[in-house]
Amino acid sequence: MNISGEHNQHHHSYAVGQTVRMVPKPIVHHVARWGDDRWAQASWSALAPGGTAARRSQLGQPIDGRFVIAADATNPTAPSMTHGAYDEGVRAATWAAHVAKASSVVVIGAGFAGLGAASTLRDLGVSVVVLEARDRIGGRAHSVDLGDGVVADAGAAWLQQWPTNSLARLAEQWGIATVSTDFHRPLTAAPDGPVGDLDAAIAAIRVVCLALPADASLAEALAPYLAELSPDDRRAAQHALDMEIDLENGASHDQLSAHGVFSEPGVGVDDRWLPGGYTQLQQRLAVGVDIRLGHAVRDITWDADGVSVDGHRADVCICTIPVWLLPEVHMSPGLTEQHRDALAHLTPVVVEKVILRFEERWWPSSESGYLRWCDTPASWGEWLDLTNGTGAPMVAGLIAGDAVTRRHRGRTDEEVATDVAAALAGLARAVGDRVESERIGGHLHEA
Ligand SMILES: Cc1cc2nc3c(=O)[nH]c(=O)nc-3n(C[C@H](O)[C@H](O)[C@H](O)COP(=O)(O)OP(=O)(O)OC[C@H]3O[C@@H](n4cnc5c(N)ncnc54)[C@H](O)[C@@H]3O)c2cc1C
Repeated sequence: MNISGEHNQHHHSYAVGQTVRMVPKPIVHHVARWGDDRWAQASWSALAPGGTAARRSQLGQPIDGRFVIAADATNPTAPSMTHGAYDEGVRAATWAAHVAKASSVVVIGAGFAGLGAASTLRDLGVSVVVLEARDRIGGRAHSVDLGDGVVADAGAAWLQQWPTNSLARLAEQWGIATVSTDFHRPLTAAPDGPVGDLDAAIAAIRVVCLALPADASLAEALAPYLAELSPDDRRAAQHALDMEIDLENGASHDQLSAHGVFSEPGVGVDDRWLPGGYTQLQQRLAVGVDIRLGHAVRDITWDADGVSVDGHRADVCICTIPVWLLPEVHMSPGLTEQHRDALAHLTPVVVEKVILRFEERWWPSSESGYLRWCDTPASWGEWLDLTNGTGAPMVAGLIAGDAVTRRHRGRTDEEVATDVAAALAGLARAVGDRVESERIGGHLHEA
């Protein structure tokens, strides 16, 4: 995070519908870099060609009654989500206590999977130690300070699938405030005119993808389809891909399953975010758990007598590190062939987030708080307006796929923050121009 000291130099007189507009400067910014983060190296996982939900389950199968992987990537019904990770931790802990009959467990990682496992074992009275590489808990859910006690989530922000979300039940039980986002009602704009019917465009792409064999890649599905479209339809299809596919599955299209991008759940089923941050949930879960920070595990060995994790002995080890980092850890006897095969059918994806706080709110308001910017080529595609929930004029912008390489990675935080503000100004200008032309159009019609 960076808090700018030059409070008087901000151009906060921005207004839509004017000819010349300055781009307001954020007073605080936070640029997340999950792709470069040593202990994440990606944001979440998608299915590779041939990948299925069953393979996610396979990766979570216990080995030799001693070792089990539990993470967001092993959840077949809520993959790549905080509650999916938490539920996997609970599943592994329940197995350790009741099936493996463990009286001591080492949990590796203190993200939601690790916290789910450890808090369950704590409640069952099983001795548990958590080894976490970072100097904090929470993993890919991390609330950052944006000044004056205002926080925002730099990683996971929404509690998705609210009706069936176990973390949502905890948030309710603990009285943690949440705000709804209706992803079906975005304020959408493009720099170059009307966007087209993105819902129809993605529905057509879905039909094309699902008609192919289950091991087809998204690239195989798209190439012949896009080539046959008219320029206008291709533009709408490209925007739909940027918004609906890349921002959920930020990876090269040849590494994504054509079926998987449509079969796995994403946002859109009653999503709510936490104005006070995800930290509130993490801290409550961690109460009374022995968590050793700054401990990067390198070696896990097990036999009939138990497990040894960098010398920590226990009956069972629950490993919750991001699954694509598993090859970095030495294991003996190690993963089975089925586990390695399941792992090979997952693709790590990179989606990055930037949070900007301004002195005042100058961008167009979206009733749902959700805005979409259909840039060509794609840039900062999705925005959440955090102002109403936090009381501070703030937005969070998301970027994915090759746009990360073009507009994010390798640039300084200041450069990225300036770029994000400029993109938001572009969105504001496009919405302002649209409102203006509708107004003028209305006058002409009346005359
Ligand atoms: C930008 C972004 C936005 C997201 N948005 C949402 C959202 O809105 N809603 C949602 O539900 N999900 C979202 N997600 C996904 C969500 O954050 C993850 O699915 C979830 O947090 C994963 O939890 P986990 O416990 O499986 O993994 P992690 O949170 O990654 O926890 C694993 C832990 O293991 C530690 N570790 C790694 N290697 C070692 C080692 N060798 N030794 C010891 N410790 C190690 C890591 O430091 C980490 O703390 C988002 C993610 C990102 C990056």
